[in-house]
Amino acid sequence: MYELTICHLYPDLLNLYGDRGNIIALSKRCEWRGIDVKVVHISLNEAFRYEDYDIVFMGGGQDYEQGIIQDDLMNGKRQLIIDAVEANKVFLAICGGFQLLGKYYRTHEGKDIECIGALNLWTHGGDRRLIGNLVFECDFLKHENFNGHVVGFENHSGKTYLGEGIKPLGKVIKGFGNNSEDGFEGAVYKNVFCSYSHGSLLPKNPALADYLITKALLNKYPDFQGLSPLPDSFENRTRESLIKRFTAV
Ligand code: GLN
Repeated sequence: MYELTICHLYPDLLNLYGDRGNIIALSKRCEWRGIDVKVVHISLNEAFRYEDYDIVFMGGGQDYEQGIIQDDLMNGKRQLIIDAVEANKVFLAICGGFQLLGKYYRTHEGKDIECIGALNLWTHGGDRRLIGNLVFECDFLKHENFNGHVVGFENHSGKTYLGEGIKPLGKVIKGFGNNSEDGFEGAVYKNVFCSYSHGSLLPKNPALADYLITKALLNKYPDFQGLSPLPDSFENRTRESLIKRFTAV
């Protein structure tokens, strides 16, 4: 019997616009296939034992919550998160969580707030909010029956830029993405996947959910042969109709 443990980091502080739905999607899609899932909540002043987790999830948060978390990160979790990333743990980080994994966040007033620094990327607070439905194309999800299009919803003022060694999660088809300038959305480094998409992301995009589950299972069980398909026609038709609506001119 396969087993996965998902850690929701700062669930009480990083969980905007239903981001927790990503954990529900991961758990359910495992459960439907007979894979056991345990979800662990780790927040302020609690030990982050990354060896115990297979997937780490960080949701979005406002600047206020990100500020509260900053102290806790600098008091010990920061290095453990870097170690977890380097140990190839699977991460999904949305919006504020994505920004926190980077090197720094420069506020609108020009103050640099140090972040975890696990990924070579950085964020500058902008003067307008980038809000709306987001559609992007993920090359690594493409196959003969799927065009790799992913749908989500973004709401951020931070503009994120990717440095050397970091690949975008996808190319923006509709919306702003990382910064509304370079056409990129999200980031990938090792097994870390970052996105600005709330909404939540995974229930609407089962192919991405299964991609993360597969990575986590392969990490833990090197002889894992692949996930059995699920009847996703409802999810797929929903996603397709949303994308059609959002990209209509
Ligand atoms: N504070 C960040 C911003 O506005 C993140 C917001 C979010 O997670 N939705 O850029």
